[in-house]
Amino acid sequence: MSELVIEGLRASVQGKVILDGVDLAVSSGQVHAIMGPNGSGKSTLSHVIAGRPGYEVLGGSVTIDGVELLGLPAWQRAEAGLFLAMQYPTEVPGVAVSDMLMASRSTNLDPDEIRQAMLAEAESIGFDEKFLERPLNVDLSGGEKKRNEALQLGVLKPKFAILDELDSGLDVDALRMVSHRIEMETSESSLGVLAITHYSRLFEQLHPDVVHVFARGKILESGGPSLADELEESGYERWVGADPEPTESSPTPDPFGDPFADPLV
Ligand code: ADP
Ligand code: MG
Repeated sequence: MSELVIEGLRASVQGKVILDGVDLAVSSGQVHAIMGPNGSGKSTLSHVIAGRPGYEVLGGSVTIDGVELLGLPAWQRAEAGLFLAMQYPTEVPGVAVSDMLMASRSTNLDPDEIRQAMLAEAESIGFDEKFLERPLNVDLSGGEKKRNEALQLGVLKPKFAILDELDSGLDVDALRMVSHRIEMETSESSLGVLAITHYSRLFEQLHPDVVHVFARGKILESGGPSLADELEESGYERWVGADPEPTESSPTPDPFGDPFADPLV
């Protein structure tokens, strides 16, 4: 059994603190959902864990089975068992997904096995084979890019996958195929998943063990699967409402001290 552990993670981008103390532990086979308002830092969290340049880590740790990932280049994090399905998959002209998977050091499969695995994955999620030899994500629709991410996940078989809005751009049938495939991976290969989403429909096939509310740079509440439905229905007002930033020292914010406060509140 493996464990992805995030402790006290703080990070900034261009001098602005976006992650302000994230604590989270995902075990093999578990699915954790992260739901939160736009701009709250969910993608930043996924990028900082995966090692995308441009962020300053201010503190905390991210480990897989005790191995510290922070400070490692992205490819070594992948080698340690991490996979990120990006919210906006990158287009890489000149490099086909098959080239990328063949070059990956995150799999021990030989080229023939990779080809077989790619074809099987493409079939299981309805991804057209013709894209396997075309430049990675170039001229693909949003949904095709997301399927391409899922295909890579299926071939590379990481220990932990972060899915950043994997459902955005997928139509209902594609979403069912992709989320079913990933659910299979959690039960058959003990994949651990951190699924960032706005919509509980992702969880019709991919069943979350825990749902976290992420806002203001940290996890503010965690609960069972029903929390996802509640959030989709009633939004995040309870966590982000009129109160911009309650702290221990100032439980009631002073409306006159905040030039952007709503005067009617
Ligand atoms: P979410 O995924 O929850 O919608 P993001 O993590 O994408 O949120 O963004 C969190 C905040 O960080 C936003 O206010 C966004 O504008 C800001 N941000 C993210 N990346 C950068 C960047 N490279 N430069 C400046 N600001 C950024
Ligand atoms: Mg995002």
